[in-house]
Amino acid sequence: MDLPEGKNLLGTFYQPRAVYIGLSFLKTLSEKDLANGLAEIIKYSIIGDHNLFEFLEQESDGIKKRKPSLMESLVGRSCKIKADVVEMDEKELGLRRILNFGHTLGHALEAASGYGLSHGEAVSIGMVGAANISHRLDYLDMASYQRIVDLIKHYHLPTKIPAGMETAQIMGFMATDKKAVGGQLHFVLIKKIGAPFVTPEIPPGVVVETIEALQG
Ligand SMILES: [Zn+2]
Repeated sequence: MDLPEGKNLLGTFYQPRAVYIGLSFLKTLSEKDLANGLAEIIKYSIIGDHNLFEFLEQESDGIKKRKPSLMESLVGRSCKIKADVVEMDEKELGLRRILNFGHTLGHALEAASGYGLSHGEAVSIGMVGAANISHRLDYLDMASYQRIVDLIKHYHLPTKIPAGMETAQIMGFMATDKKAVGGQLHFVLIKKIGAPFVTPEIPPGVVVETIEALQG
C-alpha cells in the first residue's frame, strides 16, 4: 500500500504457486506501457543474464514491433531469472534484494516527481544511477556502463533526471525508502552485466555525485 512518503511502503508478501502469462495482453499496451515493461526486462538482463542483455541489443527492432516469438522469449527468460532468484533466496537470505536493482534511486525519483515519472521511467534512470555508482567505485568498466545507457535509450526510456528535481529532495526520499535499513542505503551495484551484488557501504558523497551527473 502507498503512504505519503511513497509507494509500496507497507504490505505483506505471498509467494505465488504458479504464474500464468497472457501474451496477447502485450498487444493492448500503449507504447509507453510497453516501454515501462521493457524497463523491468532490461533490469532482469542486467542482474541475471548477459545473453538476455545481448538479445535485447540485437533484436530491438522486432521487440519494438512486439513480434510474438520475441515477446514470448523475453517474458519467459525474465520470469526464469526472477524464479531462480526467489528460489535461491530461500537458502541464501537477502539474495532477492538484487531484484531492486535501479529501484533505490528509482523509487526516490518517482516520489520526487510527484509520480509524474512512471515507474519504468524512474527505474530506467535508477538503473543508470546504479551503473554510474558502480563505475565511479571502480566495479564496472566504462564500456559496460555505456552499453547500459545506450540500451535504455534505445527503448525510448530516459537516462537523465528531469529538470526541476533537487538533489537534496531526491536524497531525502531515498532515506525514507524501506530499503534504507538502519539509516544506510542498500544499493544494488554490478561488477559487470549479469553480476550484481548488494552493498550498504556507499559514501553518500558518491550518490550525490551520481545524481548531479545525471542531472545533465
Ligand atoms: Zn519495478
